[in-house]
Amino acid sequence: MNASLNAVKSTRSYTLYCKVKTTPRFRIIRAAHLGMCFGVRDAISLALDKTQGEPITILGELVHNPIVLDHLRSQGVQIEHQLTNVRTSTVMITAHGASEKTMSAVRERGLNVVEATCPLVHHAHRVVSQMVRDGYHPVIIGKRDHVEVRGMTEDLTEFDVVLSEADISALQERPKFGIAAQTTQPIHWVRYLVGLICIRFPNAQIRFVDTVCQPTKQRQTAAMDLAQNSDVVIIIGGANSNNTRELVKTSLEFCDRVHHIQSPDDLCEDWFDGVETVGLTAGTSTPDWIVDAVETRLKELAEASERKEASPRAAPPAWTIW
Ligand code: SF4
Repeated sequence: MNASLNAVKSTRSYTLYCKVKTTPRFRIIRAAHLGMCFGVRDAISLALDKTQGEPITILGELVHNPIVLDHLRSQGVQIEHQLTNVRTSTVMITAHGASEKTMSAVRERGLNVVEATCPLVHHAHRVVSQMVRDGYHPVIIGKRDHVEVRGMTEDLTEFDVVLSEADISALQERPKFGIAAQTTQPIHWVRYLVGLICIRFPNAQIRFVDTVCQPTKQRQTAAMDLAQNSDVVIIIGGANSNNTRELVKTSLEFCDRVHHIQSPDDLCEDWFDGVETVGLTAGTSTPDWIVDAVETRLKELAEASERKEASPRAAPPAWTIW
């Protein structure tokens, strides 16, 4: 044994305790823009309003949020994915919009159509129609199987839907490309793909109209700010909500602890160990009351973690050196 250590041991004794760390409760910050957009809000109000006067069926999911859909069902609104299953005389088209083909099919069955299509989706439809009239080959940046993209393309005879670099590589040469986007795509990715099309077809005439909606852009930008200033980010929204998934992807670029939840019950206590700041945001189909309920639950967890950290440990480990 080392002589100097022996000397110390012979003259002094030390008792070292692990310090009980009193971590202050984590703070919760909300994104500057989050939650339900005006398009979804108006569509829900219209559905609830119409169902007071007569039974209605919504064709497809009015919003990609199971809690909201359950609420609508509880108010007497019927939801069907197939026109053949509709049993009411009025059918509502969702905020995502529909093609003329789909609406004609509804009318041909003798049913009334109520449109809850968001005006910004209508705008995207008009943009694409104008491009086709002007001789441009339409290219939609979006998800091929998404209801909104189907609504934008079903009336077209020729079109392409792209979402990746590989999709751009697969495009055929055309003299004129007219490019628009699904309203809920992240604008930075849309611009990137437009740039790739310009590089790939330098001789083509290219017209791009930005149809990504303002609420989506605001929520995306706010999510970036939020993720950069948070240790953990909580994102509320339906599991199959496109704009919510995009918020998750964007947030993951700036924060590696991102959780996508649908309700307060999905929150796990373990996610917040040693955390100082929790960021909270929500997709455009998430109503305010769910955001509030999640925030309330987060506050409870913050208080619980503070109590846990502050309470005296049953037997703090003691190390004694003689
Ligand atoms: S996400 Fe945008 S386009 Fe879709 S309903 Fe909301 S405001 Fe309208």
